[in-house]
Amino acid sequence: MRTYLTAALGLCIAVTVSAQNQTFKVTLLGTAGPSLAMEHPETGTLVQAGNETLLFDCGRGVPERLNQLGFSNVNKVFLTHLHSDHTEGLPVLWMSGWNGRGSNNLSLYGPGTGPDQPTGTAGLAASLTAAYATNTHIRRDLVEMWNPAGIVIAAHEISEGVVYQNNGVLVSAFLVDHDPVSPALGYRIDYAGRSVVISGDTKPSANLVKYAQGVDLLIHEVFNAGPGSTTPTAVYHTLPEQAASIFLQTTPKLAVYFHLAPAAFDPTARTRAAGYAGPLQVGADLMSVTVANTVTVTPCDSTATPTLDAVTNQAYSTSLSVGDTLIFWGTGFSAKGGNALVFRQGANGTGAPMTLDETGAAYFWDNSTGQINAKLSAGITAGQWSVSVRNACGVTSSSIALTLR
Ligand SMILES: [Zn+2]
Ligand SMILES: [Zn+2]
Repeated sequence: MRTYLTAALGLCIAVTVSAQNQTFKVTLLGTAGPSLAMEHPETGTLVQAGNETLLFDCGRGVPERLNQLGFSNVNKVFLTHLHSDHTEGLPVLWMSGWNGRGSNNLSLYGPGTGPDQPTGTAGLAASLTAAYATNTHIRRDLVEMWNPAGIVIAAHEISEGVVYQNNGVLVSAFLVDHDPVSPALGYRIDYAGRSVVISGDTKPSANLVKYAQGVDLLIHEVFNAGPGSTTPTAVYHTLPEQAASIFLQTTPKLAVYFHLAPAAFDPTARTRAAGYAGPLQVGADLMSVTVANTVTVTPCDSTATPTLDAVTNQAYSTSLSVGDTLIFWGTGFSAKGGNALVFRQGANGTGAPMTLDETGAAYFWDNSTGQINAKLSAGITAGQWSVSVRNACGVTSSSIALTLR
């Protein structure tokens, strides 16, 4: 936020202009298709575009991933379709975000009903609301007195076309082919001249090819069955050979596989054998992709939440001075670097964050024991601080208090 002062004819007018945040970043929260074994989170994709934070699908485990990343107030959710692996996390997101949402509703966008789809997005929202009516009544009206707005689901049943537009971000839905799950949607997100397409669940779709022409980032589902498989499950998903054809027709700057079924499936060799030689990445939980002039992948090497247990100096003393090299002790740091220390002034961490990261600076580094050794920069002065560690996956530890003499 910048404030400009304009003086004219003795009149002083303050004009406030929001500084535009140009970040366009996609984080894969869960990358597994339906998994009855529950060892991996199911589908959920977070899109941060400027000042907008949008979630696409919310399978089991997705709200927990959002919490690991520090998001407590995601309130705009777009469903591709109503299969359980895309919706199971929704009640958790809805309930656990009640307070963080403040006076905002949970906005839920998704497909309507169809011949074999007796419940559309509005029906899902109404059913959830009915199922949790007791909980809602007690927490809203009798005991906790939580904000009534935050527990309202504003359901929007959408069809193909522009479905959301705010802060320069345009979300378009398009029909894909996941028959008999119909209507089923894919999404295209446009921001600052860049574009991202999320396939949802689909067999090879000519309509997706139309919407994904020359897109910067194409995130596409994939299913592991033999080439030419005609099992009912295989025919409403996309095999690697078929995905290769989609990538050849759309020429994305980067193609990313998600909704891996099974979760450990690596479709790379089959995609290459089918003739696609372009940029390709197999998605993994908490991998992020930044879409700018180039499309950059940040892999994630530890989806565990870091812990920060103690801070000492190099003499292992907890009596710390500004000039010391500090050693942060804990777990879940990224072994290959990319960790960041977040300092906030005050024991309770109410000050503005000062982030020290490893890129281009000698502030700190990992060593083979998993410690972080930090040589503090000039901005970290004597006094009380609250410090947390964010690993390369963006997952942040709880903070500990630190006093510097
Ligand atoms: Zn699915
Ligand atoms: Zn599905």
